[in-house]
Amino acid sequence: MTSPSQKETRGFETEVSRLLHLMIHSLYSNPEIFLRELVANAADAADKLRFEALARPELLEDGAAPGIWIETDPEARTVTIRDNGIGMDRDEVISNLGTIARSGTAEFIRNMSGDQKKDTQLIGQFGVGFYSAFVVADHVDVFTRRAGSATDTGVHWASAGEGEFTVETVMREARGTEIVLRLRESALEFADAFRLRAIIHKYAEHIPLPVHMRQPAGEAGVTPDWEVVNKATALWTRPRSEISDDEYKGFYQHIAHDFEDPLAWSHHRVEGKLEYTSLLYLPRRAPFDLYQREGVHGLKLYVQRVFIMDNAEQFLPLYLRFIKGVVDSSDLPLNVSRELLQKSEAIDSMRGALTRRALDMLGKLAGEQKDDYQAFWNACGQVLKEGMAEDPANRERVAGLLRFASTHGDSPAQDVSLADYVVRMKEGQEKIYYVTADNHAAASQSPQLEIFRKKGVEVLLLCDRLDEWLMSYLTEFGGKSLQHVAKGELDLGKLDSAEEKAEQEALQQAAAPLLERLRQALADRIGGVEVTQRLTDSPACLVRGQHDLGHGLRELLAAAGQALPEAKPVLEVNPAHALIRRLEAETGEERFAALAALVLDQATLAEGGSLADPAAYVRRVNALLLELLR
Ligand code: ADP
Ligand code: MG
Repeated sequence: MTSPSQKETRGFETEVSRLLHLMIHSLYSNPEIFLRELVANAADAADKLRFEALARPELLEDGAAPGIWIETDPEARTVTIRDNGIGMDRDEVISNLGTIARSGTAEFIRNMSGDQKKDTQLIGQFGVGFYSAFVVADHVDVFTRRAGSATDTGVHWASAGEGEFTVETVMREARGTEIVLRLRESALEFADAFRLRAIIHKYAEHIPLPVHMRQPAGEAGVTPDWEVVNKATALWTRPRSEISDDEYKGFYQHIAHDFEDPLAWSHHRVEGKLEYTSLLYLPRRAPFDLYQREGVHGLKLYVQRVFIMDNAEQFLPLYLRFIKGVVDSSDLPLNVSRELLQKSEAIDSMRGALTRRALDMLGKLAGEQKDDYQAFWNACGQVLKEGMAEDPANRERVAGLLRFASTHGDSPAQDVSLADYVVRMKEGQEKIYYVTADNHAAASQSPQLEIFRKKGVEVLLLCDRLDEWLMSYLTEFGGKSLQHVAKGELDLGKLDSAEEKAEQEALQQAAAPLLERLRQALADRIGGVEVTQRLTDSPACLVRGQHDLGHGLRELLAAAGQALPEAKPVLEVNPAHALIRRLEAETGEERFAALAALVLDQATLAEGGSLADPAAYVRRVNALLLELLR
């Protein structure tokens, strides 16, 4: 039996071991990141203590002001980071620092790109920051005691980062945590107090907690005094006019654990019935868990500057989950809980206001910095689209932020807004036209676009998985209705001249006998046959009812096990096409039926659909090929 005070040796959890191995052997190109992570942990510990002390003031013990102290010892080659925050008890040390793999551990390993610099930067986002200590240290000692517990319950954790660590219960006067890093040969630069100061300055400037370092030059034999090296005020509480862009960016990097600058931010103090300050940021890259249902998101919540919780999800709708930031309320009770947040009218009203702020921020970026907005769209646009369904109140604004590929310019880039489209609409054009398909090539080659190309009318090309679903919420923009080019009757309105309309009428009549024959030949597969107006180069295409599901959505729902109403498409044929003329001339009924089936199969394939009986299609084509080659 191991008595609690005894020293015990334990193995790291398997994934943690793997992670440590990676840290040590492949992530040394950006070693200074360890300071950011350890300082962030110390700041978190101070926040947690302040929060827990609200209910249990005795945790503050001597009442010493919260802070972080950092020093180096060049001779011993150590860097020490100390805080007087919440600290850890023995069980917490064991589970937090080694035996329990944090959810992000495996995720981090999976997300490693092989680009060291990038990978190192990611560490903090995956909740594995502590282990970055081993990038620079070949031995790490952690001394800690949980606030409020007896001085003989201190814990000493030690490890060289290779497979094992030890824990031992020790005496410890001070509450909080002290981490001593013995620097590797390759990381000796961090023993230099000046170098260390420069880095600390970079990472600690925005921490609302004083970070102390020794004054640079002490007289020989005299230990230099501590001095505070950062501003140590909560950035969001300062007036906007006094905060520089660099400060905003630095604070973002601190809260988001991101190494890149944000694309935009929005900082507001709201006074009146509800008082709060918010600082919202738009990241440049999508967080790794953006598309995971259980991914963490939300704002950092403070109440009267006291940190309450991370990832408070109630302040923004799910479709804005890429936004990072802080909200500091003066009205919420300090003991607010997640449950309480869920059913509070004050929160609902803040959520509405913060949503509008976030959309304003996006709108401003879209208007003023197109390239940056495009970067945002490429990273997070798919999530923003969800807002069309999730947020009816802001639907028109979200619609204005959407970006699509289009036949204008024909590049697959999604960079056309509905407003851009409307500006380019032709005279007499009343609707916004779009087509959906599985990919850009299929969309842009879609036969239904032929008439639009001919008339020079732009069509939006939608090829993301959820686009069909999205479009069921986007039926109108700026008073113009949206129209799928392969659904419903094609009414080109004033785009068609009177002559064209008459011509169409004549074609329709002339083709009546052909249509009837086709109807009979294909009766069980189609809902009708019409003369098309959509095609110029193709023989035929399929058209669905205005409110029918497209084939993409049908496949999606079918895959999810949903029973679908049967909806047979209409076959539209182009009587001017040589193949249709040949069909018309065919007198053998059997052969007519085979050719008709072929035309229908091809129209199905052209829209990216799959054939119910592909083998029959192959047989028909091969029979024709053989005739040709005879
Ligand atoms: P994260 O900070 O994202 O949770 P880390 O790997 O940085 O991940 O830290 C792991 C855990 O170890 C923290 O969640 C915390 O519980 C504990 N911890 C680390 N450093 C400290 C500290 N200075 N004081 C108290 N607890 C700490
Ligand atoms: Mg951390």
